[in-house]
Amino acid sequence: MANAPVVGPITGLDPHDSGRVAPATCREPHQTPPAALLARPQPTLAHLPRYVANAPVVGFMSADLTALLADITSCTVCAESLPHRPRPVVQAGPSARIVIIGQAPGRRVHESGIPWDDPSGKTLRRWLGLSDQQFYDPNIVALVPMGFCYPGSARSGDNPPRPECAPLWHEPLLAHLPEDRLSVIIGTYALKRYVPQRKKTLTETVANFAEYLPEQVVLPHPSPRNQHWLTKNPWFETDTLPLVRQRVNEILV
Ligand code: SF4
Repeated sequence: MANAPVVGPITGLDPHDSGRVAPATCREPHQTPPAALLARPQPTLAHLPRYVANAPVVGFMSADLTALLADITSCTVCAESLPHRPRPVVQAGPSARIVIIGQAPGRRVHESGIPWDDPSGKTLRRWLGLSDQQFYDPNIVALVPMGFCYPGSARSGDNPPRPECAPLWHEPLLAHLPEDRLSVIIGTYALKRYVPQRKKTLTETVANFAEYLPEQVVLPHPSPRNQHWLTKNPWFETDTLPLVRQRVNEILV
């Protein structure tokens, strides 16, 4: 099992089956999800972009990482606090030298099972200068949000990522990734956990992003809801992003 094949970027897919998304098995059944949620039709590979559907095997990883990803995708630790059945969304391969630590999947990603499959993801790929193929290659990019499951929404946006998630899963997962990696820190939750030398505000931290290189890049959330911040801080687009892309390119070489 040392050279077990990497399962593609969309975890939860059953590579032995017809392409249907495998239902999560509950190792820690703290809660039985409502029958209506269990009965909800699952998306099939036919709904996914071609590069995803064709990517069940893209390299080799250790059996440990394969087992860890299986544990994560079957996690139900905070099911009682989630508004929907847990559906962890994560992507990682042993050679991923770009690690994107974001917030938590939104409703659209929860439904598709495809990380960053929304306008925020499109903007993020543009900011980083990554193609869809590069972004969804688990041996180039690991996608490790602060909460792996959709936390539901509140009046002014989505709820915060579940606090149980990062302390439980991040350390064992990041231990499988190369040490000479670039961590892309997105939003305040990841900032608080991973950037002890952060400034007083996110804006100030992003403005001083060179201080965190070459290991980290700090970004605001690329959500369309952040348009106001982007308009107010035009230096981010003109001065910061070219340097961010330069660092990403160094990693890709
Ligand atoms: S958010 Fe994290 S801790 Fe909670 S059920 Fe999902 S994977 Fe488990």
